[in-house]
Amino acid sequence: MSDIIHLLPDRIANQIAAGEVIQRPASAVKELMENAVDAGATEIRLIINDAGKQLVQVVDNGSGMSETDVRLAFERHATSKISKIEDLFSIRTMGFRGEALASIAAVAQVEVRTKRAADTAGTLLEIENSEVLRQEPVATPEGTSIAMKNLFFNVPARRNFLKSNAAEMRHIIDEFIRVAMAYPDRFFSLTANGQQQFHLEAGTLKQRIVQILGQHYQSKLVSVSENTDYMNISGFIGKPETAKKTRGDQYFFVNRRFIRSPYLNHAVTSAFQDLLPADTFPAYVLFIDLDPAQVDINVHPTKQEIKFEDEKIVYAFVQSAVRHALAQFSITPALDFDLDPSIQHLDAVNKPFTETDKDKASTSSLYKTFTEKHVAHRIDSAGNSGLSNWKDVFEASKQESIPEQKTFFGGEGILEGSHHQRAVQSFSDAEYTQLFLTYIICQSGDLVYLVHQQRAHERILLEKYQLALEGQTVASQTCLFPTTLELSPQDTVLLNELLPSLQQLGYQIEPFGKDSFVIRGIPADTEQGNERSDVELLLEQYKHFSPSLKLSTRDRLLRSVSKQRSVKAGRKLNKAEMQQLMTDLFQCNHKEVSPSGQPVFTLIDQDLCAKMLGA
Ligand code: ADP
Ligand code: MG
Repeated sequence: MSDIIHLLPDRIANQIAAGEVIQRPASAVKELMENAVDAGATEIRLIINDAGKQLVQVVDNGSGMSETDVRLAFERHATSKISKIEDLFSIRTMGFRGEALASIAAVAQVEVRTKRAADTAGTLLEIENSEVLRQEPVATPEGTSIAMKNLFFNVPARRNFLKSNAAEMRHIIDEFIRVAMAYPDRFFSLTANGQQQFHLEAGTLKQRIVQILGQHYQSKLVSVSENTDYMNISGFIGKPETAKKTRGDQYFFVNRRFIRSPYLNHAVTSAFQDLLPADTFPAYVLFIDLDPAQVDINVHPTKQEIKFEDEKIVYAFVQSAVRHALAQFSITPALDFDLDPSIQHLDAVNKPFTETDKDKASTSSLYKTFTEKHVAHRIDSAGNSGLSNWKDVFEASKQESIPEQKTFFGGEGILEGSHHQRAVQSFSDAEYTQLFLTYIICQSGDLVYLVHQQRAHERILLEKYQLALEGQTVASQTCLFPTTLELSPQDTVLLNELLPSLQQLGYQIEPFGKDSFVIRGIPADTEQGNERSDVELLLEQYKHFSPSLKLSTRDRLLRSVSKQRSVKAGRKLNKAEMQQLMTDLFQCNHKEVSPSGQPVFTLIDQDLCAKMLGA
């Protein structure tokens, strides 16, 4: 019998190791951009095709590499950044494992052009599957361009594992922003499929924040700055009124490296204390700088997790720095921040509008509506003629014998052109009592139901929306006053992805310039006036349906909308509403359980009553 242990060929070993570093196009974005930063580049351009599946390219004007160095750079454990183990503890550059380029070369086709300032010619290098295919002198500008093509072309299993273009693009934008936010003094751009998505001129941190998070932060940022022997903190927090129902504008950097830390996030939000409306998240971009010897930043180089030697001190420091900043802000609410002379220039660069578009927009009534701050965009009642589909509502209500008066549930999810085929249990003779503004007791003949009002409503909505997405569109009403919505770039990508489905659910939302949307219509049965926070909340809930539940995008969206739109505990219901709720519930396929799996109602019978009273 022959021996069975053998050494893996280099190429396969490389592919396996690469899996840890390069999981998706966004991982390459991070590594390549960090390398460009480390190389001292002041201009860094990211070029993406097909959400990075076809091309991720970073072009920088940094130090460049010599003919020999560029060859070495693609060897595993090749780095110019550490040479002895002690270096790990004083490292200030971004990457330091010497693995990124080797990993990229193992799972993609790579083309590099690089030239140092002192050299007359540059080097062109082509690598595929960890093998050098070509190396020759080339005329190229100073700096380095690394193009990663056809990621996972040689590992089809991994290629198939990649998510939709929208999802991969979201990851890419996340990584791009994290690097761009940390280095406001350098120019960054992102071009995707030939279209420029970001053009970030070098400037101050405040300018960078406004460039990335939106113009509405311009006068709404409070600076944070605290220095000690142990550590320094600097950056900006959003004033409380800018807090959003959706997360995404929160950035922490430790030694300019983006980190995710629920612990430090808590330190910041707790400093805001009761300044924030419930369930809203303040924006912040904060930089902590401390001696690398105090922080173990090599715990998880790709996962953005970080360990502090003394967590409690860091927590207290962050919290008090934010408190301090807020206190200053409330003493002098109109704190004068540095003027940004270049902002106008940036504005023009950033806005995808032409000048004429802009002129038109600023004179339109639409523009005026959304620039009038704090004007409640509200109509008196849902019964007003805001309904564009009155005919459908009328027809449907005849069909379902909804009481004349429009109830809270009356128009709920009425489907255009849909009629119920099933026999309808009407509950019209039942008796109703609402308990604790949370439960309904419904006595119908001999049967007594104890119903959880919110769960019942969530179930009803979910099933109606499911029907809606099977082809029938939920009736929509046009808003009297269109609302604009400014989102973070990540949420923009998310919302764009959800737009078609939202439209079927009765939302009329349109992109409106960079990272902005206009909400022109909402489902017919929704009260007007809260469009902005409704949509923000929806995005937030969507994100929080754990991906581990393995729900499809569609189902996640439906569940989010159902939850958001459901009647909550604490809302008083009249008899007509309770009757409608029961009627609708009993037409559901799964009336017994809520979308999140909790019981919707229970039957109270004589035995139970006897048992409760020990009779
Ligand atoms: P690390 O960044 O951990 O050193 P990498 O595999 O990312 O490992 O890069 C290997 C080496 O290649 C770097 O140490 C650096 O010397 C060189 N290098 C990579 N990218 C660039 C670039 N854009 N410009 C100049 N040198 C680079
Ligand atoms: Mg690196």
